[in-house]
Amino acid sequence: MNGSRLHSYWRLSMLSTGTALLFALLLLLGYHGYSKREDLLQGLTMQARLLGANLTAAIVFEDGRTAGEIIGTAESSPIIIEAGIYRLDGSLMARFERPGSTPVLGNVAPPAGHVFSLSELRLSLPVRLENRDVGLISLRASLDHLYIELLRVFGSMVLILIVSATLGNAVSRRMRLQMAAAESEIERMALYDRVTGLANRHAFELGLAQALQRHSREGGGSALLFIDVDGFKKVNDRFGHQTGDIVLKAIGERLGKTLRASDIVARIGGDEFAVILTNTQSVDAAALVAENLVRSAAEPFATGDAPAHIGFSIGICMIPDDGADVESALRNADLAMYHAKQAGKNTHRFFSEHLGAKTQRGLDIEAGLRRALAQRDLKVVYQAQRSTRSGRIEGIEALVRWHHPQHGPISPMEFIPVAEEAGLIRAIGDIVLELVCGDIAGMKAAGLAVPPVAINVSARQVAQQGLAADILGALARHGLTPQAIKIELTESVFIDQGDTHIGMLDDIAAQGIEIAIDDFGTGYSSLAYLRDLPISILKIDMRFIRDLPGNAEAMALVRGIIAMGHAIDLLVIAEGVESAIQAECLAQAGCDLLQGYHIGLPMDLPELMELLVAPAPAQASGSAHDRQ
Ligand code: C2E
Ligand code: CA
Ligand code: CA
Repeated sequence: MNGSRLHSYWRLSMLSTGTALLFALLLLLGYHGYSKREDLLQGLTMQARLLGANLTAAIVFEDGRTAGEIIGTAESSPIIIEAGIYRLDGSLMARFERPGSTPVLGNVAPPAGHVFSLSELRLSLPVRLENRDVGLISLRASLDHLYIELLRVFGSMVLILIVSATLGNAVSRRMRLQMAAAESEIERMALYDRVTGLANRHAFELGLAQALQRHSREGGGSALLFIDVDGFKKVNDRFGHQTGDIVLKAIGERLGKTLRASDIVARIGGDEFAVILTNTQSVDAAALVAENLVRSAAEPFATGDAPAHIGFSIGICMIPDDGADVESALRNADLAMYHAKQAGKNTHRFFSEHLGAKTQRGLDIEAGLRRALAQRDLKVVYQAQRSTRSGRIEGIEALVRWHHPQHGPISPMEFIPVAEEAGLIRAIGDIVLELVCGDIAGMKAAGLAVPPVAINVSARQVAQQGLAADILGALARHGLTPQAIKIELTESVFIDQGDTHIGMLDDIAAQGIEIAIDDFGTGYSSLAYLRDLPISILKIDMRFIRDLPGNAEAMALVRGIIAMGHAIDLLVIAEGVESAIQAECLAQAGCDLLQGYHIGLPMDLPELMELLVAPAPAQASGSAHDRQ
């Protein structure tokens, strides 16, 4: 029973006990009231008899004065408010009434007997002499005393009830707290994981502490492996939790088969396992075991339905060298595991000192990105590309922006690689595509002529299935033609990714979406190679532009790139243009579009819209150099 259930159980039992007590109290009070009433009747009867006995002589001898004196003694009984003595013929002979009370007894004798009303008891008894009635005595008693008594009893009962309830509550509260503490202690002390039957985190930490103690006493070392199951969430989502549990159990069994009996295996989190390779000091030996484990995960796991595919990302921390206490050993193994994930999963990584700080930021960025993506908390800014001939804005580049809640604005140069490793790049790409298409549609609706907007696509995105469909889908959703956008890819896409992806790029180009090769000149692509690619735009890397115009070599290179680009019918863009003089000599060299801080900083949508309505500067920078 967990804490809150325990709590409501106690509340319920307190409530029912309270109700029962109240009920009993009322019953008791009813009984008490009834018996007090009987006592009163008895007492009043006794008094009537006593008075009657003293009155017989006065009645018989018609001595009204004496009768008045005797009946007046009723005053000594505080409950009697009126008394009357009647002759045998029913006429009133004498009476007593307590001052302040309203007389009720009339001149004619009431019938013998007693009557309770809400406020009083009336009693009439014959006065007898030697078995013969000689008259009648009638008394009225107030019930005020009875009520006061009942109220007193009720008050003290309630007081007792409150005191005992308060006490009981305090006691049960303490018991409740103690029970909850005991329960969590029992749970914590339990050493086994229910799903897999392996040791749980608590047991594992105990084992790790023991190993560390042993090493500090006797020397030697062990390897701590932190294993995260890749793709387990997918298994859970697809097959449900029950199957998820079956797979976890099977994973535990497979781990056990690969390891020695002396090793410690535990499930320490949802899809996290940990292993201590006892007395394994050799890094190579630890790596070998990790390799075996990774390989063991490759074979799919049988479920009721389709087989489940998972993998292992393993972080290794050598203890005690890389972690002398439980906490740091686990943390460092975890960090190493994160690196294994970054390295593409299904592999292992060792912890080493320098990994620490860098990885923390990486972890922060990854976690922050996940949150940002869930909330679609990304922005896009735009940078203008101005034509050297018309002086107009003839192209735009969209650049993603992200603000980390703790680390502030983070450059896409830093977070894009993290997103790629963490498998988040597609989500980012989707959001950027959506934002850009939305903005273009908005600008068009506002009546602006919008030149093609370049969207950066990373190599990992190209490697993904369905990129072309994603792009066309976004365009269609916003009612845009393929000419509304263009795509920027780095050279590495073509070189590292091989032919397989070029087919998809062909598809994209065939749809009428222009493709630009970004950062040109940094890789080793030859211009001859470019001819066979489905690209139509070439962006000269900003490193060459930076050295213009002072550096003659850079100048020659840039001229050469422009000339050759034009020779194979490519539009040439220079990026990173920061000064008027750079703009001037690029225009001289025949470059088509210029992009950089000199032309315009990356700006938000309203600013871009202002720029697009503004007339082109009178002097188009540089000479008109026709594109071949
Ligand atoms: P890039 O495609 O080469 O983008 C140009 C970068 O140079 C941008 O940095 C831009 O702000 C900066 N820049 C523009 N003019 C100048 C200049 O005159 N001088 C200098 N020194 N720099 C200038 P940013 O925005 O930080 O982007 C960095 C890189 O991040 C981009 O390089 C691109 O590779 C990547 N990136 C940006 N947005 C996206 C995106 O939406 N998706 C993907 N996959 N990658 C993106
Ligand atoms: Ca770019
Ligand atoms: Ca670039």
